[in-house]
Amino acid sequence: MIVILGSGIIGLYIAKKLLENKKKVLIFDTSDVKANATSASVGMLAPLIETKPYENQLLKLMIDSKRLWDKNFENNLVADTIGLKKNSSLLIAQDIDEFEEIKFKKEFIKKLGHETQILNKDETLELEPNLNSNIEGSLIFNKHNQVEPDLLKKFLTKKILDMGGLIKKQKYLKKFNFINNKVEIGNSKFIAEKLIICCGAWSSKLLEQSENISFPMRPVKGISMIFETEKNMFFNNLWFKNIYIAPRKDNNLAVGATEDEKGFEEEVTLDEIFFLSKHLWESLPELEKLKFKEVRAGLRSTVVDGNPIIGPLKKNKNIICSFGHYRHGILLAPLTAEIVLDYVLEKKIPNKYCFFSPKRFNL
Ligand SMILES: Cc1cc2nc3c(=O)[nH]c(=O)nc-3n(C[C@H](O)[C@H](O)[C@H](O)COP(=O)(O)OP(=O)(O)OC[C@H]3O[C@@H](n4cnc5c(N)ncnc54)[C@H](O)[C@@H]3O)c2cc1C
Repeated sequence: MIVILGSGIIGLYIAKKLLENKKKVLIFDTSDVKANATSASVGMLAPLIETKPYENQLLKLMIDSKRLWDKNFENNLVADTIGLKKNSSLLIAQDIDEFEEIKFKKEFIKKLGHETQILNKDETLELEPNLNSNIEGSLIFNKHNQVEPDLLKKFLTKKILDMGGLIKKQKYLKKFNFINNKVEIGNSKFIAEKLIICCGAWSSKLLEQSENISFPMRPVKGISMIFETEKNMFFNNLWFKNIYIAPRKDNNLAVGATEDEKGFEEEVTLDEIFFLSKHLWESLPELEKLKFKEVRAGLRSTVVDGNPIIGPLKKNKNIICSFGHYRHGILLAPLTAEIVLDYVLEKKIPNKYCFFSPKRFNL
């Protein structure tokens, strides 16, 4: 039996992969955590658009995971079930300075070996007639699409239960014991082959209390908002300087995201709503057509170097870390699950992805 702590996108994806490979899986989660990252996420699957010059390893990971997304969800029926849109992303330039910036971005991405295309104002408005007509142009990232995280969670949960996996909700877990394959979680005691930590931003706290190990990581809070429009307004994902917008099913628009260092604060505060609303107002015409539906907060699990931690602990090789996915956990979930599966089956992390192991912190 393999025990997974945490049923966000990472824990669920790993569970599905293990069950498909005939492993028994038991997942523990809690209802005491309100601001899990997955539920607040916008679900963009866009490796190139946010990449930074110092993130070579992460970019490779994101691109490989995006390939899995494209391969695993070719079937249109399944794609529709999880709200996977087969659209693209437009990085919009709202003034001449931003137009220069997107030209620079195009060159940077070209140096990394990928092609994007500049669209002038008319070409952009032809694709998206409901944008403000005072834009300068855009950079198009083909097939940078998105998925609906809530639908994806529902889909994965059903698959897991159908394959005989168990998901238990209990009180927030402060500590576990795992010695010689004997696990103690709350009042439950059982034998397990492996314990996989997928508690997102809460992972380091749990490891500190249980194993006296602490990773250099912190929560980075973000909020997203959902609006409903009378008819479908946009076809592609729209990225502006401070916000991004994803058109979803049923004429909904998801808008993200703030980024704040507020510790483990889980409630939505007014300054965060103000930030998103202000930038939305600067980016789109006819805001009165958007009916507010929902706002959600999530804590991103953020490691000091911006990369996730995927792999076993030096101290106990049966404890596998899988957290720290920061802004890219939805995109990275399929590949993360493959890496963890490889370790469970082959007892080693594929060479290509060793960089992400806890060893880089000597843990
Ligand atoms: C506003 C926002 C927008 C985002 N947009 C995108 C995007 O467009 N694309 C993208 O790829 N990524 C995006 N992200 C990032 C992405 O959401 C995360 O990287 C991803 O969801 C992390 O998943 P996770 O399973 O590791 O963590 P979480 O989703 O946080 O799940 C952790 C789980 O562990 C459980 N847990 C925690 N502690 C305990 C405990 N002690 N005992 C038991 N259970 C516990 C929690 O209840 C929770 O279910 C966004 C994040 C935010 C906040």
